[in-house]
Amino acid sequence: MSDNYQVIVVGAGPAGYVAAIRCAQLGLKTACIDAWLDEDGKPSPGGTCLNVGCIPSKALLESSEQYAHAREGLNDHGIAVGKVRLDLDVMMRRKQRVVRELTQGIAQLFRANGVTHVSGRAQLCADRKLVVRHGDRETTMSADNVILAPGSLPVRLPGIDIDGSHVVDSSGALAFDKVPKRLGIIGAGVIGLELGSVWRRLGATQVVLLEAQDSFLPVADEQVSKLALRSFTAQGLDIRLGSRVVSCKVTRGKVALRYQDGEGEHDATFDRLVVAVGRRPNTNDLASDTAGLLLDEWGVIHVDEQCRTNLPGVWAIGDAVRGPMLAHKGSEEGVMVAELIAGKVAHVDYDTIPSVVYTLPEIAWVGRSEQELRATGVAFRSGVFPFAASGRARAMGDTEGFIKVLADEKTDRVLGVHMIGPQVSELIAEAVVSMQLGGSAEDIALTVFAHPSLSESFHEAAMALHGRAIHISRPGRNKR
Ligand code: FAD
Ligand code: NAD
Repeated sequence: MSDNYQVIVVGAGPAGYVAAIRCAQLGLKTACIDAWLDEDGKPSPGGTCLNVGCIPSKALLESSEQYAHAREGLNDHGIAVGKVRLDLDVMMRRKQRVVRELTQGIAQLFRANGVTHVSGRAQLCADRKLVVRHGDRETTMSADNVILAPGSLPVRLPGIDIDGSHVVDSSGALAFDKVPKRLGIIGAGVIGLELGSVWRRLGATQVVLLEAQDSFLPVADEQVSKLALRSFTAQGLDIRLGSRVVSCKVTRGKVALRYQDGEGEHDATFDRLVVAVGRRPNTNDLASDTAGLLLDEWGVIHVDEQCRTNLPGVWAIGDAVRGPMLAHKGSEEGVMVAELIAGKVAHVDYDTIPSVVYTLPEIAWVGRSEQELRATGVAFRSGVFPFAASGRARAMGDTEGFIKVLADEKTDRVLGVHMIGPQVSELIAEAVVSMQLGGSAEDIALTVFAHPSLSESFHEAAMALHGRAIHISRPGRNKR
C-alpha cells in the first residue's frame, strides 16, 4: 500500500468521512481507515450515525409515526381507512435499505473525491505510524497528519449483560424482530425517548423508562422539558424518575428487574430491556503506549479549541473529544481540521450547535436555556409563542408546543431559542442562522416570514419578547 499520504483519517463516521472528503477537495492526498463491516462482512462507511444511529433511528421514527397516524390521525381529516396492519419485516427492510443506500453513497463520494478507503482497524503508534489490521493481515501506514475520529460506544452498566436478544443496547433496539409487549428502558435520555416512542407507536402496551436523575431532560429548557414530560406521559411512556436498577436477571425469556427509587425497592418484568445510559469514547485500543496520546480518565482524547491533540500532526474530532456527541458537531470539526491542515483559517462556533430530539412533539434548541441564564446572572428577555395560535399548525392539526426566544436585556442579541412542536427539527435552523450572524430579536421581528407557515411562530416569539406579538391576546411578563 502506498505510504505517502498527506492525511490519514481513522474512522469513517460523520466526523471522519467529512474530514477525509474535505481534505481531498483541498488537494491533500488522503486515506480513510474504517473498521465497520455490515451483516455480510462488507465495509460499511458512515460509522454509528449511518449504520446504527441517526439514520436507522430516524427511518423507524418516520415509519412508526406514519403507522400511528394512519391508525389514529386520519379520522379527524375525514379520511376513513380500513384496518391498518403492521408489517415489521418490511419496515425493518426499508430501514436497512435506507442505511445501505447512504453507506454506499459515502463509498461513492470517497471514489469521486479520490479518498483511499481502507477497511481495517488502525492503531496509532509513535511518529504518526498506524498499524492496520484486517482479519489476519497487518499493514503499516504513515502520514504527515493523522485525524482520529473513532467515535463512541454505548456505556454498559455493571451487572447487566447485553445478551443481544432480551437485553440490548441501542443497536439491538433498532432491530427487534417483533414488537415487545412490555419494554423496559434504562435511561430516559435522547435514545430512550426516541426508541421508546418508536416501540410504543408500533404497539408495545407498556414502555417503562427508568431514569436515575430526579429531573427530566435537564439539558433542555425547563419549560420545554415540563411540557415534553406531560406529552410523553400522555402518549403512554411511563417515565419513572429517580430510579436506579439494583439487579437484572433473564429467566424463561423474561427480564426481571429490581430497581430502587425514593420510596424503596420495586420489581418489574419486561419482554425486552434496552440499556441507553449514554455513550463513551471508543478509544480503548486506539493508540499504543508508545504513541503517547493524551486521554482523560473517561477515554476522551485531549484536544485544544481547534482539535489538536498533544502530539504534533495528530488531530482528533467527533464523539471521542469534548463537546456534545452529535453527528453535525463532528462533521464541522472535520471540515475545520481539514482546512487548518491545508493552511486556511477555520473554526467551529460551539455556542451555536443545535440539539434535536426527534420525538412527537419534536424538541429543538440552540444556545442557552432560561435556567442557564438565570444561574449565570445574565439579564434577559423572553418571548414565547404557542403553536395553538399558528394558522398553519391549526390547519395541520398539530398545535401542541411553543417557540421561545431569549435575548439579552440590554443588547437584544439572541442568546437561546427553544422549541417544542411540529417540525421544529427544521425550524431550529432559522434560529441557528440568526445567532450565527449575531442577530437580535428585533432583526427577527423585522424579517418577513411566509404565511401561513410554522416559521411565523418564530417571528411572533421574537415579537412577543418586546410585548408586541400580534396573534396572542396577552403577551405577558417577559423581563427576567
Ligand atoms: P462514529 O459515527 O461512531 O464513527 C466512528 C467510526 O470509526 C466507526 O465506523 C468505527 O468503526 C470506526 N473506528 C473506531 N475505531 C477505529 C479504529 N481504531 N480503526 C478504524 N476504524 C475505527 N446524532 C445526531 O446528531 N443526530 C441524531 O439524530 C442522532 N441519533 C442517534 C441515534 C442513535 C441510536 C445513536 C446511537 C446515536 C445517535 N446520534 C445522533 C449520535 C451520532 O451517531 C454520533 O454523534 C456520531 O455518529 C459521531 O460521529 P463520529 O464520526 O465521531 O463517530
Ligand atoms: P443521554 O445522555 O442522552 O441519556 C442517558 C440517560 O441515562 C441520562 O438521562 C442519564 O441520567 C441516564 N442514566 C445514566 N445512568 C443511569 C442508570 N444507571 N440508571 C438509569 N438512568 C441512567 O444518552 P443516550 O440517550 O444514551 O444517547 C447517547 C448519545 O447519543 C447522546 O449524547 C446524544 O447526544 C446522542 N444521540 C443524539 C440523538 C439526537 O441528536 N437526536 C439521538 C440519539 C442519540
